[in-house]
Amino acid sequence: MKKNKLFFCILIIISFFIISCLKQSQENELVTDEPSIDELEIIIREAERQGNVSARTYVNQFWQLADLYLQIEDYVNAYDIIIRGLRLDSWNYKYQQIASNIEIMNQEYELAYNRLTFILNNLNEWDSIYIESLAQIENIQIKSPERILVSLPGYYMYLAAYPNVNSDVVELAAARISEEYGIEVRIISADFQESEINIRDKQLDSYNKALHDVFLRYSGEVIDSFLSQSGLTQEDLNTREGKRSFLFEIYNQTEQGRYQWDAIELIRNQYSAYALQAQLTENFFYYIHAPFSLGVLGITSNDIYENDYNFLFGWTRFRLGIMSYDRFISDNPTKEQFEKRTVMQALSSAGFMIGIPRCTSPDCARAYPNSLQEQDRKDDKLCYECIENLEKRYLIIQQ
Ligand SMILES: [Zn+2]
Repeated sequence: MKKNKLFFCILIIISFFIISCLKQSQENELVTDEPSIDELEIIIREAERQGNVSARTYVNQFWQLADLYLQIEDYVNAYDIIIRGLRLDSWNYKYQQIASNIEIMNQEYELAYNRLTFILNNLNEWDSIYIESLAQIENIQIKSPERILVSLPGYYMYLAAYPNVNSDVVELAAARISEEYGIEVRIISADFQESEINIRDKQLDSYNKALHDVFLRYSGEVIDSFLSQSGLTQEDLNTREGKRSFLFEIYNQTEQGRYQWDAIELIRNQYSAYALQAQLTENFFYYIHAPFSLGVLGITSNDIYENDYNFLFGWTRFRLGIMSYDRFISDNPTKEQFEKRTVMQALSSAGFMIGIPRCTSPDCARAYPNSLQEQDRKDDKLCYECIENLEKRYLIIQQ
């Protein structure tokens, strides 16, 4: 019996040894394929240069680089890259927790406390990150930090509403920017329609797609008979109006087709965010550059886009921004939901206009939302990190 036990013990030890050797050799092989710190730095810098949406697709490289810095105990660079990663992917509990570890090391207790509270509020009790966070937060000697708002007396920002924008939501956004940023917000009306420069004809896109489907589905003879029915020629299909008349004829043959046609007719054009910014600059130049002005934020009810982005909630640079609430009403939200979404976007845009970076708190109004669901999960308030950055920024502005 004893001999048997001993035999088993030895067997288990040998198996462990073999498995760990195999694992080691696999890991060694992998290591040679992994990019170096320098290579990752280049990839990330390039992705960041192209903007948030592009950088998001590289977020794993941010974490890979952070791990490499952590391995060599370079906590300064590790922290820097983790913060940049969390600005894009703030719901990442693992790196939120690592960030809080480094903050505790640097005696930045409030920042760490906020991160740990976020983890404890959102993770399950059996999760190892939850358990570690609970142990960490007990070591921090502060109670829930007070939310002290900052202000910049004498300074103001303009909110410029395009025609057809819901005036209630504009007033609410103005009031909330004023409260959170401690500045005056003045509402002005843009008495001109959105600039149509570089407008994206989304309806034409869907006509082309529908036409492509029709040609796949029907034979040449059937298509010819549809054409003659609607008094059109093949050449007419090269024009926008010709495409529209032809498709109208085809879709309205059946009940289901009629529904589909109605959906196509509802598709609206997308406005170029750059073109709207240029329009705001042209019309409100004085407001943007007036003494003590922090800039002009335009608000439109039309969908906006720029470059490769399918759509944008907002497009902002220093002192000038344009935001759209078109996507916030796409799922028939309640009035409260719609208002909260719009307010959060206004708070987010206002921060960039003033010159504070995006933060890493997932529940902050300014956190990067991947979807409307994520937008709805946020608080319509600025987080501790944003308020701290704002305080630093206001000191510079007042110099
Ligand atoms: Zn924030």
